[in-house]
Amino acid sequence: MDPRYSRQVVLGEIGHEGQKKLCASSVLVVGCGALGCTAAELLVRAGVGLVRIVDRDVVELGNLHRQLLFDEDDVDACLPKAEAARRKLQRINSTVTIDARIVDVAPQNVLPLIDGVNLVVDGTDNIETRYLLNDACLERDIPWVYGGAVGTTGMIMNILPGVGPCLRCVFPEPPPPGSLPTCETQGVLNTLTTTVASQQVSEAIKILTGSPMVSRQLVTIDPWYSKHISIEIQRIPECPACGHGKRDFLDGLELTEITRLCGRNAVQIDPAQDLGVSLEALRDKLTSLGKVEFNGHLVRFWVDDYEVLVFADARAIVRGTTDPVIAKRIYARYIGA
Ligand SMILES: [Zn+2]
Repeated sequence: MDPRYSRQVVLGEIGHEGQKKLCASSVLVVGCGALGCTAAELLVRAGVGLVRIVDRDVVELGNLHRQLLFDEDDVDACLPKAEAARRKLQRINSTVTIDARIVDVAPQNVLPLIDGVNLVVDGTDNIETRYLLNDACLERDIPWVYGGAVGTTGMIMNILPGVGPCLRCVFPEPPPPGSLPTCETQGVLNTLTTTVASQQVSEAIKILTGSPMVSRQLVTIDPWYSKHISIEIQRIPECPACGHGKRDFLDGLELTEITRLCGRNAVQIDPAQDLGVSLEALRDKLTSLGKVEFNGHLVRFWVDDYEVLVFADARAIVRGTTDPVIAKRIYARYIGA
């Protein structure tokens, strides 16, 4: 056994058998923000054999107060979060496989992303993606660990298909857009996000090693006001997702190709199918505009008052507007209809 795991193996709750199971496990971390960074790092340090990280965004200065895998060099290089995380994680543990995917999780790609993993950790920053994950994990019978953190309050819950309640047993329908507080509007305590992610990974390790101590409760924590509340949640027989087998979010009815990026002055345009753009060719095409950068993972250019990031899957983020019409026009004009 690799001596790096000695303190974990000597722990009676994990032991040799538990460590072997962790090394043979695969985990998908969806989103590489504050929760995803901490969760991915703990999973990689614990020796989980394959950690797949999915994130659609690039590292920004406003991320650094809580997203522990990133630094100022990543901001300067405008690196995608998944790639910056992969580099750091591989230096932490070279014996595990890090599979970084720079994509937006959507109905058309979520099943291939979760196929082959034993467990999913929720590191998303939006409720739509969580409902999609709930559908996908029920469909494939894969456990996932829900986590959320806003302000000083966080929540954690295991969703164990066929065993316990699913997300829609607790929250049957997503709230109307804009009705929930977000980290952008309300802020977030950086010790909260590390606490929530640590708790999520505690549950992940218990599930992966087959521990009888896996939580069956919805846990709410607030490290500022020193609160820790656990609530028993029951499965609802008439739940649309785990009771009646409906897959409303996987069926793609709730997601559109244009997304206002929550709380930020930016819009994402996703052409829905992977057009496979050549980023080198795009850079060459755009050089007549003025300043164009290509860092191996994305092309960045500036037009009028807008900054545009284009990824290899033809997805673009238009910064400087919240107007989908403007973003769509820029996309059509400079990248392709
Ligand atoms: Zn349910």
